[in-house]
Amino acid sequence: MDTTSLPSSPARRALDTEAVHAGRDDLARQGLHAPPIDLSTTYPSYDSRGEAARIDAFATTGAEPDGPPVYGRLGNPTVARFETALARLEGTDTAVAFASGMAALTAVLLARASTGLRHVVAVRPLYGCSDHLLTAGLLGSEVTWTDPAGIADALRPDTGLVVVESPANPTLAELDMRAIAHSCGSVPLLADNTFATPVLQRPAEHGARLVLHSATKYLGGHGDVMAGVVACDEEFAGRLRQIRFATGGVLHPLAGYLLLRGLATLPIRVRAASATAAELARRLTADPRVAHVHYPRIGGAMIAFETYGDPHEVIAAVRLITPAVSLGSVDSLIQHPASISHRVVEETDRRGAGVSDRLLRLSVGLEDVEDLWADLDRALAPVLRGAGNCATSHNSPAPADEPATATALRPSRTR
Ligand SMILES: *Cc1c(COP(=O)(O)O)cnc(C)c1O
Repeated sequence: MDTTSLPSSPARRALDTEAVHAGRDDLARQGLHAPPIDLSTTYPSYDSRGEAARIDAFATTGAEPDGPPVYGRLGNPTVARFETALARLEGTDTAVAFASGMAALTAVLLARASTGLRHVVAVRPLYGCSDHLLTAGLLGSEVTWTDPAGIADALRPDTGLVVVESPANPTLAELDMRAIAHSCGSVPLLADNTFATPVLQRPAEHGARLVLHSATKYLGGHGDVMAGVVACDEEFAGRLRQIRFATGGVLHPLAGYLLLRGLATLPIRVRAASATAAELARRLTADPRVAHVHYPRIGGAMIAFETYGDPHEVIAAVRLITPAVSLGSVDSLIQHPASISHRVVEETDRRGAGVSDRLLRLSVGLEDVEDLWADLDRALAPVLRGAGNCATSHNSPAPADEPATATALRPSRTR
């Protein structure tokens, strides 16, 4: 399979144009402006011989049945609009939507395991639940964790998948996707592109065969849709559709509608939130109460930072920023990965992946930068007072005798 194959669809338009128009190209001809929401679970057909042939075709290739839909678990026209649009943005042949990001990852793992290729090579950190799904072997897979340089050596004859995230959740560690794709050889590379979105990075252009999103995050963008999607070539998509049909992790049509609507503003949301995040990252870096700031080279609306004081105090003190797990919404969210998003990852694995007990993960929304800074600044204030007490913990990046009131920017320390 040629992993660099280009989209099969019409002439390339700029990303901002695709975001607004992809998946809607037929609407004007139909006399429509907003996409219709098709809530049908089933579709009438007076030709059951023809229907049988179409079902057989789906069972063979997993290609979307020609003609009218058959049954909601096989495919839905409203969801298909979102899939078309996301594929255009990621530069892949097609995309397959699921009920959540985890349902999407599950389908990929099942697709590989069903061909006997149960071994997965993965690079930490990954989103906590992705890590857990692989580590616990819930789907019968066996995982080898490695760093990017170790991928080629970790591959075995039964390796069916390489899984990476960049920037990674929650540390925002970045990977060289092209080099990794090269190390994978013929083994499919799955890149979780949830944090970057196709606005900042298109992993398929660098050789990733599968681009996964928790569409719950930036693609939906408003904190009101749970969804997942895999952008890929038509051959792999066929297997994913067959697995989706057999296991039932389908996306609801209303969610498909909301995601398509979300994509229209994805580029401007991501750019605006990124500009604010870059400024907040700059201020946090210069702040004596903050030990480390992780902000990706490619930008984005996520910031990870470590305070000298107790991170739980920061969570308790924010007022404008919502203390909640998840990310990618129009409003800013903050959470403590070691307690919440990465709780499910075993402590030593978590720490080994750079997720310290001091780390906070901030998802920057579309609020005014000064209002956000005022909230952060106020929430960090108790950290300054509490620094002397908290600095004695084993994981502290600051020596216990470091003056809590120092104003100079402390040098970054790594463990
Ligand atoms: C949230 C998240 C997931 C899981 O997606 P859900 O939609 O919550 O199932 C996977 N990967 C990353 C990077 C995430 O942030």
